[in-house]
Amino acid sequence: MNLDTFVGQKEIVFALKKALKNPFHAYIFEGEKGFGKKLLARVFSKHILCENKSSCGVCKSCRLFEASSHPDFHIIKRQEDKKEISVESIREIIKDLSRGPIFSDKKVFIIEEGEELSISAQNALLKTLEEPPTYALFIITCNNIERLLPTVLSRSIVLSFKRYSASEIAKILEQNGLEPKDYIVKLCKGNPKIALDFYNKEVQNKRDYIFDKLLCYDGASFDLIKEFESDFEKLKNDFEFLFKNIIYFLRDALFYKKTKSIELITNTDKLEKIIEFSNKHTISHIYKLLQDFMILEKYPDANVISDNVLDMIFLKLSGG
Ligand SMILES: [Zn+2]
Repeated sequence: MNLDTFVGQKEIVFALKKALKNPFHAYIFEGEKGFGKKLLARVFSKHILCENKSSCGVCKSCRLFEASSHPDFHIIKRQEDKKEISVESIREIIKDLSRGPIFSDKKVFIIEEGEELSISAQNALLKTLEEPPTYALFIITCNNIERLLPTVLSRSIVLSFKRYSASEIAKILEQNGLEPKDYIVKLCKGNPKIALDFYNKEVQNKRDYIFDKLLCYDGASFDLIKEFESDFEKLKNDFEFLFKNIIYFLRDALFYKKTKSIELITNTDKLEKIIEFSNKHTISHIYKLLQDFMILEKYPDANVISDNVLDMIFLKLSGG
């Protein structure tokens, strides 16, 4: 993949292409998890290090990059047993930066999930960002920009990743050898990682498990949220994906209950389960569950669903 074949984020790709010959010393790629920040950081780095600035694939630099053994390219991330990216990791970068690049005219450092940089790590980085050697290039990917110090932000170019369009999601799925399906393109809400997750058998099994659990819910005798809380520990790696699924499942059930039509259902691959659930419960029951799950989770889309869908339903329920 190169900057020409990268799908989506057109404005950012345009800006990066323009910067290839004379890049700034620090970029921050910020946006929701799953938006392709790490991928684009690697794609951009390969271009920067390429002898032809084109990610040509044939120069020595490109070949080293593809073999993951480019001496001028480094990825820094939190070690699994640590809570944050420590100041020591940054000191190592600074030490490394005292020597110039070996093959390329730049030395590239990607810091992944920059929100995990400790404050002292950020302060250590700051000195280098203030007076960087001409060959230094930093790309910090970040899911939560509020965790970065304003002084770090002000010494970097911040590029904000946006949601992908439906056609871009479909293109990404095709690039990955997957057949785009309408319900997946809709459910992923412009997030390619969520779309790709749908094709993962293990994740799909967990989705089925969650939906079956929802179907077992009898509406009164046990606390469904408590039930899920114990499961979330073992499902936590897919937490966001599964949570969105629960909310969309309940939303679908509510729509079906209200309209008796399958037209508004998003989980079109699970029609039977949604209809069964919907027939089993009253509108207020499903509504209450949906509300509880949305309050429980602070995921950013909750407000959007609340404003656009729930308020409308609530108005109707209350006779407005
Ligand atoms: Zn090359």
